[in-house]
Amino acid sequence: MSKELNLILSPEQASSNEAIQRAIAKQLNCSYTDIGHFIIRRKSIDARRGKVQVNMGIRVFEQGEDFFDDAPVFQYRDVRNSEPVIIVGAGPAGLFAALQLMELGYKPVIVERGKEVSQRKRDIAMLNREHKLNSDSNYAFGEGGAGTFSDGKLYTRAKKRGDFKRVLYALYNHGASPEILYEAHPHIGTNKLPRIIVRIRENILQHGGEIIFNARVTDILVDSGKFSGVKLSDGAVLNARACILATGHSARDIYHILLKQNIKIEAKPFAMGVRVEHPQPLIDSIQYHGIPRSSYLPAASYSLVQQVENRGVYSFCMCPGGFIVPAATEPGEVVVNGMSPSLRNSKWANSGIVVEIRMDDLVQYSQFGELAGLEFQHELERLARENGSYGVQAPAQRLVDFVDGRFSSSLPACSYIPGLNSSEMNLWLPSHIGKRLQEGFRAFGEKMKGFLTNEAVILGVESRTSSPIRVPRNPETLQHVEIQGLFPAGEGAGYAGGIVSSALDGAKCAEGVAAFLKS
Ligand SMILES: Cc1cc2nc3c(=O)[nH]c(=O)nc-3n(C[C@H](O)[C@H](O)[C@H](O)COP(=O)(O)OP(=O)(O)OC[C@H]3O[C@@H](n4cnc5c(N)ncnc54)[C@H](O)[C@@H]3O)c2cc1C
Repeated sequence: MSKELNLILSPEQASSNEAIQRAIAKQLNCSYTDIGHFIIRRKSIDARRGKVQVNMGIRVFEQGEDFFDDAPVFQYRDVRNSEPVIIVGAGPAGLFAALQLMELGYKPVIVERGKEVSQRKRDIAMLNREHKLNSDSNYAFGEGGAGTFSDGKLYTRAKKRGDFKRVLYALYNHGASPEILYEAHPHIGTNKLPRIIVRIRENILQHGGEIIFNARVTDILVDSGKFSGVKLSDGAVLNARACILATGHSARDIYHILLKQNIKIEAKPFAMGVRVEHPQPLIDSIQYHGIPRSSYLPAASYSLVQQVENRGVYSFCMCPGGFIVPAATEPGEVVVNGMSPSLRNSKWANSGIVVEIRMDDLVQYSQFGELAGLEFQHELERLARENGSYGVQAPAQRLVDFVDGRFSSSLPACSYIPGLNSSEMNLWLPSHIGKRLQEGFRAFGEKMKGFLTNEAVILGVESRTSSPIRVPRNPETLQHVEIQGLFPAGEGAGYAGGIVSSALDGAKCAEGVAAFLKS
């Protein structure tokens, strides 16, 4: 009979199958050779109490016993002659909606404004090297969506939204490494994500789905309260009875199209701030209690949160061993975000540090109605460009200088390739963000001794953490509250934040589409 057990091992033991098997034998009081096979079910690092240990959940099978696992089964059907469903956007929400539709027997037709991942890579290289931004192909737009050139962190607070293990298994089946199935904080890494996205595309095409690249949706067509089709930038029109709208939170034009068509959207709270970067060895030393990080331990991460004057200030999308990247989608703005390779082996640790923004912070923007948050976001991104001296250089300040309100006469080395321009950030950040960030950083310095240091630098602005807009849908049918056949999905619709929750939401909307088309 297979058995479940928990082991607490040193990082070195946890990295060796032989050492794990010996620890299993010891705990079961049996011989090393009695053990047939084992599967790691959970793995997490515990660096509390001044000691670094690895907690592992293991399933053990005896010698000769049938080995099984409880992996979900995926059955993609051939859908080339099935009813088409339009999916706008090939991000996690759009791609997972497509996979789910194929299981349900419908043909996904994905329209994506950006390019295939290999061509998108060239545009991103051009952006970093020559500061030329392609507004349809960048860190946010193109095959795989905003998640392709990211850290690929796969954890979610949205476990109630669906079977997140299914998303992990689907990624594993498309080439992600098995560790993502059991690590407490799984991540893929920007070097491995593109290959996985390509395999998802190949799977969709092999089963008869369609993907149209360089196809920006410029209009959503509605007839008597029913979705009827989309118009593309080249003038072509695609018709279908159902559409999953999964355009992400950077596609501002989509919100304008929805408003123009009188399709209801709503303002919602979001968050904005800066990205902070420390030397990774400093974060390792804080988190691993001054013990030098051995090769058996990952680059250390952190998660920080503090209430300041009735608003949350918190770390967001922390990237150990990573890089800060230019994530703008329009030429007149500077937006920063973070990513890391699978080995998380750069010299730096970066994280967004953001402040919650609620509607009462945006009174000055009330003339923009539902678009108030979007306009505010855009204004700060424009100011970041102005203070980054009108390029893709980011405005930056040493962390202690920012907290103490001093101009930084020099800036430390930083992973952000386009470069930095020293800027006194509080002169242009609104005080409801700037003052709270200062307080938040002080509190973080208390929680993590050494965090508040002038070796760290902050860059502006971290503005695309979540959507300032919700496209409201019926909670039962998942259709837009007023438009039949239109299924707003993922981060841009305001129902998800992050790769896994967006993927889950896309798959859930595919179920909604199937129920609608059958009714
Ligand atoms: C640099 C970076 C790092 C990140 N790191 C992580 C991370 O480590 N972990 C994590 O969970 N999340 C991370 N995120 C966030 C994550 O990528 C998003 O939450 C997720 O991709 C949202 O999925 P989505 O499918 O809803 O939208 P998106 O991924 O934004 O995809 C939307 C797609 O729609 C397309 N589109 C937009 N408008 C149109 C139109 N008019 N016509 C046709 N197509 C259109 C876009 O080109 C895009 O491909 C990161 C984001 C960035 C930018």
